[in-house]
Amino acid sequence: MRVLSVAAELYPLVKTGGLADVTGALPGALAAEGVTMRTLVPGYPAVLSALDAGAATTELPPLMGGSARLLSGRAAGLELFVLDAPHLYARVGPYLGPDGRDWPDNAQRFAALSQVAARIGRGAAPGFTPDIVHAHDWQGGLALAYLALGEQRGVARPATVMTVHNIAFPGLFPATLLAELDLPVSSFTTAGIEYFGQISFLKAGLQFADRITTVSPTYAQEILGPAAGMGFDGVLRARADRLSGILNGIDTEVWNPARDPHIAAAYDAANPAPRAASKQAVQRRLGLVEDPGCLLFGVISRLTGQKGLDLLAEAVPALLATGAQLAVLGAGGAGIEAAFRSAQAGNPGRVGCLIGYDEGLAHLMQAGVDALLVPSRFEPCGLTQLCALRFGAIPVVARVGGLADTVIDANAAALAQGVATGVQFGPVAAIPLEQAIRRAAMLFADRAAWQTMQRNGMATDVSWTGPAKRYAALYRELAA
Ligand code: ADP
Repeated sequence: MRVLSVAAELYPLVKTGGLADVTGALPGALAAEGVTMRTLVPGYPAVLSALDAGAATTELPPLMGGSARLLSGRAAGLELFVLDAPHLYARVGPYLGPDGRDWPDNAQRFAALSQVAARIGRGAAPGFTPDIVHAHDWQGGLALAYLALGEQRGVARPATVMTVHNIAFPGLFPATLLAELDLPVSSFTTAGIEYFGQISFLKAGLQFADRITTVSPTYAQEILGPAAGMGFDGVLRARADRLSGILNGIDTEVWNPARDPHIAAAYDAANPAPRAASKQAVQRRLGLVEDPGCLLFGVISRLTGQKGLDLLAEAVPALLATGAQLAVLGAGGAGIEAAFRSAQAGNPGRVGCLIGYDEGLAHLMQAGVDALLVPSRFEPCGLTQLCALRFGAIPVVARVGGLADTVIDANAAALAQGVATGVQFGPVAAIPLEQAIRRAAMLFADRAAWQTMQRNGMATDVSWTGPAKRYAALYRELAA
């Protein structure tokens, strides 16, 4: 079974969020299921410089007004097709320019990626004709449209899968680009790629995919409704029989507290006591009072409204009233960044933040914080709570999407049965969040209950093994 994965980012080469973690980990996990996955990625500088020597080159016809070639080789242990088209990708930001705005030619950049994906799907790459083309998010969506529209003209195509990692990104572009993107006017209908007068690359994927998956069963249900569906719920309801949810895993080698170069002391589920060293390191790094007994909450996140962190900024006084500390690692919206900076300034030693992106500190925090806060308004799957489970940090999460599917709330029944792994709250608002923080503080004071939750979390299977089996089964069903 051969699968072409089409992705705009993949760990460890290019990452802006969880999408990269998923596309980077899936090929390895699927290999164990007998699936050979190759990933087509844009030739960003970071990808080209990581490519091993000896990559094979296939010349391509000019793409979007510039020359292009397809490199096929390995980088960071991954089998890749790299679309080398410097006029489109020789830039550092995968989506955004230095001014923080979308690159003005993102339509051309990701349509080009999708056109090449369709070519490979039809057998253009020597030695690798895929049985399945699997596109991720809007950046890959058009690939499935090109394949399906080609089929309408009699060109055979492989089966296709579209995975929605976050429906909040519709990939909208003006209809005036139709001809330049090589999309027939006949495709620009509500049953095609038209979305309120514009072209939506995401909708293209949703309409033309043989199967649609998203990254948790609860999110798959939620996006059928208007609130979480964000305008695509109608399209999805019409195709609900093609939609399913497959939870993400995490790379349990990259996220392994027994062998993590970024943490202060190694530990495992049998003896999590060395977490104390990482806790102290986090407190020191973020300027917090080095108190081993104080409950340390952490946040590792994009600081955006989706993540509900404006609510957390509001809840800081309630959090501090429990005697706890707060460590924040994240970057994003200026308003939320400013709110945490001012919380830090107003509460020295008790609130610490690092505004920015720091992979190493993310690992250290997972190993050192007592509880990880994820108050998302919506969360397709969420990866940080999975890392928290693996690292023995107790997730305190909103009861939405993948957070609802992966954390077992410490309600009375779960505590009595000894199966709780964290705290859930809902609806997603400041007061329920404050109540969840207080509930976590009460649990923290009960060392036995806390340690049981920690053990349960660390025993939870958050690996890719189960999810990879589900993807492989889906591919097999489609290929048959
Ligand atoms: P999303 O993809 O919506 O941002 P996920 O929880 O699915 O959220 O994935 C986020 C990933 O990015 C996790 O691997 C998390 O550790 C990482 N991450 C987020 N913000 C930061 C940051 N400021 N520094 C380091 N890693 C971060």
